[in-house]
Amino acid sequence: MRALAKLAKAEASVGMIDAPKPSAGPGEVLIRVAAAGICGTDMAIYNWTPRMRPRVAPPRILGHEATGRIEELGAGVSGLAVGDRVSLESHIFCGQCRYCRRGDAHLCASLAYPGISIDGGFADWVTVPAQIARPVPDRLDDRTAAMIEPFGIAVHACMAQRGVAGKTVLINGCGPIGLMTVAAARALGARRILAADPNPLRLKLAGQMGADATVDPANADVVAAAKALGDGFGVDVAIEYSGVAAGLDAVLASADRMADIRLVAGPNAPHALDVNALLRTGVSIYGIHGRRLWQDWDLAVELLADKRVDIAMLADPILPLDRAVEGFEAIVAGRALKPILLTA
Ligand SMILES: [Zn+2]
Ligand SMILES: [Zn+2]
Repeated sequence: MRALAKLAKAEASVGMIDAPKPSAGPGEVLIRVAAAGICGTDMAIYNWTPRMRPRVAPPRILGHEATGRIEELGAGVSGLAVGDRVSLESHIFCGQCRYCRRGDAHLCASLAYPGISIDGGFADWVTVPAQIARPVPDRLDDRTAAMIEPFGIAVHACMAQRGVAGKTVLINGCGPIGLMTVAAARALGARRILAADPNPLRLKLAGQMGADATVDPANADVVAAAKALGDGFGVDVAIEYSGVAAGLDAVLASADRMADIRLVAGPNAPHALDVNALLRTGVSIYGIHGRRLWQDWDLAVELLADKRVDIAMLADPILPLDRAVEGFEAIVAGRALKPILLTA
């Protein structure tokens, strides 16, 4: 079968390979992949960042955001059937640890991932533990179904702590998931939304997806814009996606007293904070890792299926699997939003 793999322990070094078609072992399902999305984690593997080096053993077929139809059930799999359309939750959780048992499987003590710890979905077929194959309603097209996983992070970012309904919200960073968060926050009842990003195309999309105001941190002060959005006081909810120290500082300074601060990305290096300034404001800080299973995932699917949110415009470029490398290159060149690879 065709597959896109990380070929060697070096920067870039991804390419198409001819791999044996897998079969479903006990507890697994074999999926005929229809579509799969390239994400920031795949780019970290592509760029061979220090954090990814110990986690990926080349040759490894990449891809953890995928959708397709079940073609084969391994021994002991129940609740799924051959022919079911499914999308992959990327967190393979153990189901046994302290966190899984109390309903926090997204924080499982021994998480594994398709496309990192096992072969992933940038291929004609993929096998995964049945637990992460979640049925998809027919009214979602393949491109949208391939984006449930990242959209689930956006839903988590909107539903965590005290949610967004009736609140003023700063979304700092408008990559694909930041843009999805704008749309999710709008659908989930945010009162006013401010989106920040240095890329004018992304700010324009943020406006189309529901932001009331946008700000380019390269040319204007995000904190001042957030204060203005919050009638001079700052925002009720500040969500950080920029992943740079200045962005984190702006998010912290934009939050009103007693606000919710949600961190989806962080600076690469440890970063000093003025904790005294924070504790005097009564803010709560929450770290977002994946999706809470399955409440965030299922709400993500429902918002998409009910057309409360449309993320189809973020699928760009859309490429056949054979041209997967171009998807990575488009991200490197700054031309891409969420590259989607179509297998059929
Ligand atoms: Zn991802
Ligand atoms: Zn666990």
